[in-house]
Amino acid sequence: MRPFAYERASDLAQASRLAAGTGQGQIDAETQFLAGGTTLVDLMKLDVLRPERVVDLGALRAGHDKIEMTSKGLKLGALAKMSSVAAHPAVLAQYPAVAQSLQLAASAQLRNMATLGGNVMQKTRCPYYRDPSWLECNKRVPGSGCAAIGGVNRNHAILGVDASCIAQYPGDFGVVLAALDAQVDLSGTRGIRTIPFVSLHTAPNGQPHIETTLRSGEIITGLLIPAGPWNQRSLYLKIRDRASYEFAISSAAVALHMEGDTVRTVRIGLGGMAYRPWRASEAEALLTGQALTEATAKAAAAAALQGAKTNGMNDYKPELARRTLVRALLQAKGATLPGRES
Ligand code: FAD
Ligand code: SF4
Repeated sequence: MRPFAYERASDLAQASRLAAGTGQGQIDAETQFLAGGTTLVDLMKLDVLRPERVVDLGALRAGHDKIEMTSKGLKLGALAKMSSVAAHPAVLAQYPAVAQSLQLAASAQLRNMATLGGNVMQKTRCPYYRDPSWLECNKRVPGSGCAAIGGVNRNHAILGVDASCIAQYPGDFGVVLAALDAQVDLSGTRGIRTIPFVSLHTAPNGQPHIETTLRSGEIITGLLIPAGPWNQRSLYLKIRDRASYEFAISSAAVALHMEGDTVRTVRIGLGGMAYRPWRASEAEALLTGQALTEATAKAAAAAALQGAKTNGMNDYKPELARRTLVRALLQAKGATLPGRES
């Protein structure tokens, strides 16, 4: 690991000041925030991230780790631990997809350390990105090329990619946030603002080293998942190579508000398939107002994958994604809601 300056921030303003002007939004920003450290320290040890300064957010936890049910929806502090949110009784009952996505991620030890803010900011698991001995990686070294295109790309993305990068967004929770219209609260040297979660992560746009729309010095302080009747009938389905402690090769977050067999509202996110947390709006439009059957679910899944671009070893992915989504939709339709068991 390379030498770096360590600063312990005592408040948000100080943390933002320390990070201001240091390339935030870029994957290799000179200043990195230390939350749980489970991504940051890992990548520093691998010599992938080489920050000059690490700003510890630990002292800010008490003010920014709340889990609150409000009339507007579920409010989550960015420094809340993944494990606390996953086990919260009201989250389990009213926002099951949120709890499931966190419960199915990483390991118990990691979930006890990792925070929600760090989770949404985690980096791709592309093996070429994580190993600096590979010279071609536009995300790590802008303009160097992409070793995964034409290389080992079984786990790489098929949606939202371009010729500069086909890395997969690895997180689970972010897929649910994209589906459920989450909002992100930010605090920086220019004040506070709130943005839709789906606009936090950027498309590769030929410059995949720029990953988010965070402004210089901005810190994620909280998340709001708006209230809505679809949240209770929500589900996160994760498909992976082994049943535990593994990233998704495919996942779907779905939330349904039904009137009998007819879909009144549906929200869909896809994971393991896309460059960034993916909202499947075409599939939602196709299902809204329709009876939810295997046939309509299949039509929606086909629409969701229409723009898929594969690269050889990941040619299997569109079919896997379609099957994942169909299964998630039919499971969510059949789910028994709390208080309606009899
Ligand atoms: P940190 O490591 O402290 O920070 C990560 C990044 O986020 C840094 O760049 C930091 O600057 C930035 N950051 C942190 N907090 C903020 C903030 N408040 N505002 C702005 N920027 C911030 N995840 C899954 O979703 N599913 C999995 O199956 C899964 N499996 C894993 C398996 C392993 C072996 C490991 C090591 C990780 C796995 N993860 C998985 C990823 C894990 O969930 C993340 O490492 C974790 O959530 C990161 O949170 P953290 O608080 O530790 O972030
Ligand atoms: Fe780098 Fe992206 Fe190519 Fe992976 S897919 S090698 S992260 S440019």
